[in-house]
Amino acid sequence: PLISADPVTLTTCPYCGVGCGVKVTQTAGQVHVEGDTGHPANYGKLCIKGSNLGDTLGLSTRLLQPQKNRKPGRQAISWDEATQTIADKFQQCIDQYGRDSIAFYVSGQLLTEDYYAVNKFVKGYLGTANIDTNSRLCMSSAVAAHKRSFGEDIVPGSYSDFEKTEMVVLVGSNTAWCHPVLYQRIIQAKSTRDNLFVVVIDPRFTSTCEFADLHLPVLPGQDVALFNGLLQYLSRNGYADAQYIEAHTSGLEESLAVMQDETDPAWVSEKTGIALPKLLQFFEAFARTEKVMTLFSQGVNQSSQGTNKANSIINCHLLTGKIGKPGASPFSMTGQPNAMGGREVGGLANMLAAHLELDNPQHQQLVQNFWHSPLIADKPGLKAVDLFRAVESGKIKAIWIMATNPVVSLPDAEQVKRALEKCEFVVVSDICTDTDTTAYADILLPALGWGEKDGTVTNSERRISRQRAFLPAPGEAKADWWAISRVARALGFSGFDFNHPADIFTEHAALSAAGNSHPDQRDSASAFRYFNLSGLTALNPQTYDNLAPVQWPVLASDELQNMSRPGTVHESDSSAEHIYRAGNFSHVQTRAKFIATAAIDPVNAISGAYPLVLNTGRIRDQWHTMTRTGLSANLSSHIIEPFCEIHPLDALKYGITEKGLVSVESAWGRCVVRANISQNMRRGHIFAPIHWTDQTASDARIGQVVNPEVDAISGEPEFKHTPVFVLPF
Ligand code: SF4
Repeated sequence: PLISADPVTLTTCPYCGVGCGVKVTQTAGQVHVEGDTGHPANYGKLCIKGSNLGDTLGLSTRLLQPQKNRKPGRQAISWDEATQTIADKFQQCIDQYGRDSIAFYVSGQLLTEDYYAVNKFVKGYLGTANIDTNSRLCMSSAVAAHKRSFGEDIVPGSYSDFEKTEMVVLVGSNTAWCHPVLYQRIIQAKSTRDNLFVVVIDPRFTSTCEFADLHLPVLPGQDVALFNGLLQYLSRNGYADAQYIEAHTSGLEESLAVMQDETDPAWVSEKTGIALPKLLQFFEAFARTEKVMTLFSQGVNQSSQGTNKANSIINCHLLTGKIGKPGASPFSMTGQPNAMGGREVGGLANMLAAHLELDNPQHQQLVQNFWHSPLIADKPGLKAVDLFRAVESGKIKAIWIMATNPVVSLPDAEQVKRALEKCEFVVVSDICTDTDTTAYADILLPALGWGEKDGTVTNSERRISRQRAFLPAPGEAKADWWAISRVARALGFSGFDFNHPADIFTEHAALSAAGNSHPDQRDSASAFRYFNLSGLTALNPQTYDNLAPVQWPVLASDELQNMSRPGTVHESDSSAEHIYRAGNFSHVQTRAKFIATAAIDPVNAISGAYPLVLNTGRIRDQWHTMTRTGLSANLSSHIIEPFCEIHPLDALKYGITEKGLVSVESAWGRCVVRANISQNMRRGHIFAPIHWTDQTASDARIGQVVNPEVDAISGEPEFKHTPVFVLPF
């Protein structure tokens, strides 16, 4: 049934951080999905996951009513009983154990409105920052690196730069499979311009490498050595932009001093495993090309050195002034559809809303005053891996998990199982009845899915797009912001009288503008940030519904001139397209900082007992833990079983046969998958996808094998480097 008189709905794909516009047409009860030709992220293109969205709308696996108790005692209950039970239990935990005994683990799948409401509730009313998100597993290293280098979590460039650049460097990204429409944009640009040079830096030879001019098979974890080597090469051979460095940066000398012993190209070649001629070809190309885009993703972020890796990339762009200019920028690709929106509302345990700082007393006061809230979190909360450790140790007594499946997706996933088994009170909001995580729910809340929920998401290039509903809510499923508001009101909190997602969005926009100082007045106590939606504070439900995709900052036009377009600007360059165009960074003094990064090996080295390195990632046609994409026969036919890819000589050495079952074992756990023997792997390294769960195949969760080491700065886990051994099963 239609909920709109208009059979056509423009909305946004719910999968990756490209954030493609989708046009949904409903005729005779059928849903037809195609790309939205007017959306600037994709101009009508969709990848296979987006094209098959219509297959994922069935209700066979859906949770349609609140439920209580773990199996076998599970029982349907009313929303009244569910929300009152949650409020009572939370109050009891606060009274008995204190505010930090409650935690939330949420998701980059949430819409911005859901994300805003839950962060307001937890940080401003429960008064704890124990709310983290699965985006911690995805791009928190990029966030930390942006803040260190620029003073604010900002992706400086835009997708349109791919059409303007002369060189694309893809680092730690199988873009062809994981951000397919961006990859198509790059390939299209390459097909029309002879001078576009594409480099892929990845230990594996992936589909992305097929169109590359140069593939650098870097050893896992050695990206800092590679980019420190590039920085020194550029510096020693006269390629530094002295004028830019003098005018817009600080800290170069200190950074070069830290890495001086380890940057001779021959040393870099040995350390990274990249042949010297290829390494020098890359260095020279970067040096001599004016417009370079370096796109990085999970291969950089998911590392115990993830933040340093991202900073080492940014350092090279700062040194050469290749930043904030058309066709020239470092560019972090976010994994999830709304990882960026989550960052805007302070979705990580170490952030406050609207790009404000959790550990800055002025910022705390600003947010508390804006919310009129009784208290405010005043210290960072626990990051994902530590959060579930605290659940297991009993420090956290109650947890609410929304739109994510941590029993599958977190590293050392058996630890997560143990934690939830022991936890006194577990609430799970999900669209599915049975996932590996819902099994532990004491209260299970039915959420809205794609096509039913209504709100906004922000993609990798800071573009806010509407995700519009075109189907009715099934059963008693409700928006996550609605459920949060119900529990907040049951606890006696005001400030949650939201009736429509537009109410939440405009409050979010107003907070971004509150106390946002003029760029010329920024100092250590001010609340200046480029994240500013002051041009969207007056939306009403109608204008919100009609909101066209827009990149932030979104400001009143008079402010725009001062804020992001000082100086001469290219005519076709929109104000938000290149935030740092004028070299005015968000740090006090407006200077970007070079960050000293030392090349350090991954935490757990291979050994006689565990001689191979496990690298994990996505495949082309599945998303996360397959609760939606697994419903599509078309998508599932691409790769039907969990597998690991292994080099032929390693297969021979360990007695592995093609398509034979393999036990992959680490010090943390084991799983059983099918062997794919492939020349695309480096010797000594295996690859396995993250998607399969114990619900879909017995013993197939690769998460139980992955080591739980994290980046000391960002808290992002080291998914790309776990020592393992393999044997025939
Ligand atoms: Fe969806 Fe990403 Fe594919 Fe675009 S590229 S259709 S956002 S999965």
